[in-house]
Amino acid sequence: MSREKKQIEVLGNCPVCGSGIIEGQKGFGCSNWKIGCKFVIWKNDKFLASMKKKTSKTMVKTLLKNGVVTVKGLTSKKGNKFDANMRYEKNADNEFFNWKMEFTK
Ligand SMILES: [Zn+2]
Repeated sequence: MSREKKQIEVLGNCPVCGSGIIEGQKGFGCSNWKIGCKFVIWKNDKFLASMKKKTSKTMVKTLLKNGVVTVKGLTSKKGNKFDANMRYEKNADNEFFNWKMEFTK
């Protein structure tokens, strides 16, 4: 990069408070975290890791824009590759979010 100043890239809007989502070391999180917004999408999410997948910047951008993202190349327990539509939804019983998978028919 030739520019000295590093521009912070906003990947989309936080579904909780509407602020920008930015990339951090461990995840893609809300830029409002300093004042208490806890929305974050972990890079090493356990659910995705169980299907040999990591959260990518492209996935986050699409998810924040459309509310759903098609994740390709997931690996099943039997070792088969498959694609799935994923949403990132708030748990009913706490303030955390989790990936939810949707299969297209
Ligand atoms: Zn937020």
